[in-house]
Amino acid sequence: MAKKAAVSACLAGKNCRYNGELKGNPEAMAKLERQGCEVVLFCPEDACFGTPREAMDLTATPEGIKALTKYSRQDRTAPIAEYAEKFFDEHSNIDLFVGKARSPSCGVRTARLYDEEGNLLSEKEAGIMAAEAKARGIEAVDDEAL
Ligand code: SF4
Repeated sequence: MAKKAAVSACLAGKNCRYNGELKGNPEAMAKLERQGCEVVLFCPEDACFGTPREAMDLTATPEGIKALTKYSRQDRTAPIAEYAEKFFDEHSNIDLFVGKARSPSCGVRTARLYDEEGNLLSEKEAGIMAAEAKARGIEAVDDEAL
């Protein structure tokens, strides 16, 4: 049976990035196609906040890791986590998660984590949606590592 892959929509060339810029990964999409994968696209940030929108950073706070907007410091963690839960509940047969590298929502092992003063703590974190995929035991990979 064909593998079912959940893939960050921006990798397929969708105009859903925070700044509206296109940043697809045709090589990754072609690889999934060659493998006969059925692809399901998702974009938590576009669904929750629209495009364009303020960029956000993963930030270590006393209450845990949060996704905060870069300048206005709004906490966007809960809507993204809720989107992720609903997505995986509705698509319970996902075999593979392919996330956009370095995204605070979708990065699998490449998202940057900052402290509350903006100092870089790590470049190996999982974004909010990628963390949900991993917590559910779904094989997960950054697009650049596919
Ligand atoms: S990295 Fe994720 S949240 Fe960001 S534009 Fe792509 S699909 Fe949307």
